[in-house]
Amino acid sequence: MSSTGDAPVPPPQPSLQPNALSPNGASTNGLPSSVFTLPQTAQLEALYTIIRDKDTSRGDFLFYSDRIIRLLVEEGLNHLPVVQKSVITPTGSTYDGVGFEGKICGVSILRAGEAMEAGLREVCRSVRIGKILIQRDEETMQPKLFYSKFPQDIAKRYVLLLDPMLATGGSAIKAVDVLMENGVPEDRIIFINLISSPEGLKTFSGKFPRLKVITGWIDQGLNEKAYIIPGLGDFGEPVSRVATSCLNLHTVLVFTLRYYSSLACFVYCSKLTLDVTSIIIIYNKGLCT
Ligand code: URA
Repeated sequence: MSSTGDAPVPPPQPSLQPNALSPNGASTNGLPSSVFTLPQTAQLEALYTIIRDKDTSRGDFLFYSDRIIRLLVEEGLNHLPVVQKSVITPTGSTYDGVGFEGKICGVSILRAGEAMEAGLREVCRSVRIGKILIQRDEETMQPKLFYSKFPQDIAKRYVLLLDPMLATGGSAIKAVDVLMENGVPEDRIIFINLISSPEGLKTFSGKFPRLKVITGWIDQGLNEKAYIIPGLGDFGEPVSRVATSCLNLHTVLVFTLRYYSSLACFVYCSKLTLDVTSIIIIYNKGLCT
């Protein structure tokens, strides 16, 4: 057989990452024991290569980041407790299996975290999703809560907290503080993100050692602007271009349907066109289930 023939080429191996994992995905290299990454396979690295590429189209960015998000959610669900559950199969036999112990919900940290909601819904049908908007207070420079909306019984649920990038950890820490103020115990929160900085992981997990973090990849570190390096830039940028056009469509629809019926609606729509944060808050109030 010719050595230059059609012999299959072995798949590329993932480059050796400082966050190399044991086969079960548990971190092995000095990371806090509460931090878990996805198995660093060549496929996963290929997905990350696509979404990190500055020349990747918006459509591909959304498609491939969604694939990673689904993997992350599946891994997050692996960490939920189960109880014994027996069922009768169509053959009349008993199958002694398990079922999830409690109810879950998602909470996305606006605005980038919203991009993870679709992936969560694809894996957990009819999952309830809350939202939290945190921004930096211009006076104190500290993360400040601007808006939150949670399922009423959130204190009784396991919470999958969604934010794609863990940079300094400031927003995520504030979000967990807010969840705990709403009665969610630390060990019932699972924080899911696509890329973490080592600095952010250390700060976040140092503050919440009982909270599990599921991250897809741990990068080198932060630059002087607190962007993750190599990272992928601003995660919200390609996503928000889509979201903004959806919001515009929503605004136009509401306006067209209701403009003639009431002046109040006109005021409502005018407000929507003036203030992007208000748009998101009002829009989301309708969407939080
Ligand atoms: N948020 C992002 O979107 N990217 C970063 O690199 C850091 C925070």
